[in-house]
Amino acid sequence: MVCYNGTLMLKKPLGATRLLVSEVGFGASPLGDEFRRTDPAEGARAVHAAIDRGINFFDTSPYYGRKLSEERLGAALEGKRQHVILASKCGRYDVDLFDFSPARLRASIDESLSRLRTDYLDLWQAHDVEFVDAQQIVDEAIPTMREIQRQGKVRFIGITGFQLKQLRWIAERAPVDTLLSYCRYNLVMNDLDTLLTPFARELHIGLVNASPLHMGVLTERGAPAWHAASTEVREAGQKMVKACEARGFRIGDVALRYCLDHPYAATTLVGMSTVEHVERNIAASNCRPPVELMSEIRDIAAPILNQWWPTGREENWDYHPPTPA
Ligand code: NAD
Repeated sequence: MVCYNGTLMLKKPLGATRLLVSEVGFGASPLGDEFRRTDPAEGARAVHAAIDRGINFFDTSPYYGRKLSEERLGAALEGKRQHVILASKCGRYDVDLFDFSPARLRASIDESLSRLRTDYLDLWQAHDVEFVDAQQIVDEAIPTMREIQRQGKVRFIGITGFQLKQLRWIAERAPVDTLLSYCRYNLVMNDLDTLLTPFARELHIGLVNASPLHMGVLTERGAPAWHAASTEVREAGQKMVKACEARGFRIGDVALRYCLDHPYAATTLVGMSTVEHVERNIAASNCRPPVELMSEIRDIAAPILNQWWPTGREENWDYHPPTPA
């Protein structure tokens, strides 16, 4: 555990990298207005509040808000770069625009560094690799990312995506420093631990767990319209909201606390763009939901647990036919 500015936030080693990341990580996709329009000044205050309270891991991408998240995060980090472990991504640039070619990645890193107002990233990740040919990631993207690492522009490299078996398939053929997946370990899904965690742990690959709120399903407001979750999953989320409220808890606190207890993931990335959410999510580490509440939540989750959805190329899906095993 290390302290910063008098605050206490648990820091954990990210695999074999020498990075010690805060157990609550700042997901910056909301800064790019991915969920709804946000106030940039409030977003900057949220970044500053997070740093002041001990969050040191920040994750963004050129894709989030089509450059907006990187631009806003870069502006907010002006003068504070040395206090954070900064992660961004490459290869995904729009909903349907993917380009992992060496030439694009070489340009992409310089564009990200310029928007983030820094001369290096701590972690650079190939973004949502399930949308492309896995062999291209092995043969072209990762070797190019290693070349850029040797130039000193990035300290470590990783891959991200929803389909866990493909992440493993790639990492078995082209070693990476970190793996990031989302919505696969939280109150409504946990197959991260059968499909990826044992592999990552055995090879000491850093594991980042994203979307503890299941991208809004586990919030009072509910999931945005674009979310792939079924009606049953959305309804289960709202039942959990009520079960928590009935016992004087908030779903966000309980959902995040559950993820912080993961035995191997070093950090849980939660999307934030307001000071209020930063404060709540930091306080969530002190949340101790009673066993009765967790048992109620497990019962609500049971009929919809691990409801996976197909995304990316069919050859990269975790489940064929597209229902969880
Ligand atoms: P999330 O589960 O963290 O949910 C974010 C939503 O919850 C936002 O609408 C946010 O405003 C809201 N929220 C945050 N804290 C709250 C609180 N205490 N109470 C109520 N609502 C709250 O989903 P996410 O943002 O998609 O995931 C987190 C981060 O993980 C992303 O910002 C991104 O950095 C990373 N991520 C990466 C990938 C990838 O690389 N493929 C995919 C998904 C997420």
